[in-house]
Amino acid sequence: MKRHAFSAAFAGTLLSAAMFASPAMAQDQEQFITIGTGGQTGVYYVVGQSICRLVNRLEDANIKCNAPSTGGSVANINGIKSGELDMGVAQSDVQYQAYNGTKSFEGDAYTDLRAVFRVHGEPLTLLARADSGITTLDDLVGKRVNIGNPGSGQRNTMQVVMDAKGWTMDTFSLASQLDAAEQASALADNNIDAMVYVVGHPNGSIQEATTTVDARLIPLNDEEVKGIVAEYPYYSASVIPGGLYKGNDEDVETFGVAATFVTTVKADDEVIYQTVKAVFDNFDRFKRLHPAFENLVAEEMATQGLSAPLHDGAARYYREQGWIK
Ligand code: GLU
Repeated sequence: MKRHAFSAAFAGTLLSAAMFASPAMAQDQEQFITIGTGGQTGVYYVVGQSICRLVNRLEDANIKCNAPSTGGSVANINGIKSGELDMGVAQSDVQYQAYNGTKSFEGDAYTDLRAVFRVHGEPLTLLARADSGITTLDDLVGKRVNIGNPGSGQRNTMQVVMDAKGWTMDTFSLASQLDAAEQASALADNNIDAMVYVVGHPNGSIQEATTTVDARLIPLNDEEVKGIVAEYPYYSASVIPGGLYKGNDEDVETFGVAATFVTTVKADDEVIYQTVKAVFDNFDRFKRLHPAFENLVAEEMATQGLSAPLHDGAARYYREQGWIK
């Protein structure tokens, strides 16, 4: 948590005052928190902005929250680790891998990572230009594919798919690593044949792509994908409903994860408690801030899809609500 800079003399006065301060008084000091999100046309950006909007309305907590755009899940967890971010949104697979030190976090378990709550579901979304000839996952071989920027969750999940298929970067004629917010225009401009996004629906990026070029959502439901879902507890089969995007009227089978909200064990209990309280005390308002939040159920968010231990500040609120023991 970054606090206001203040003079050494003032700090001394505060320090002696703090010795006698009640916990409530500690909140008299303004606290600044930064939440890592994703690209501006994704859903994480709205998650972060929405949480901040509710936190900034709290009258007594004295927390100032901001939620800048970032590279996505992996960048957010790395930002929390380095102290640049206080909290962030991260895919449930990335949360699991970071906490346990597996896959791209091999040998680097981040055991200070703490779960706060689960948010919306995120199917792995493969969108291809209609004129590319791509109708299945295997058709990506030899094509120009945006596999995602390093730091994004999709880059991480796409690697799991590539490993299961035995693919490398050379499998594609071009493996671009554009930021999430850049891929829709790259598809429309015919700089790539397909884009990969692990994202909640509906979202601005797929909307932008499908309204500017004839593009199709491609199913991911073959043997290798089924193997991935069977092997890892944090992946599950998922469907992108038909009718959300122009030219895509049918349901599309794929697999996916959940978006989760995470922090570090080092984050202040009271700040996390107030952040969680701001969201769940105003849950109807929160759910109205994006259509991907529509079907969220508060108690499930507190208990499902989390692999790192719950942060104490979050657990305190959930206990008060009777959602956990
Ligand atoms: N799941 C993506 C990632 O982790 C971000 C999706 C979004 O911004 O909504 O990078």
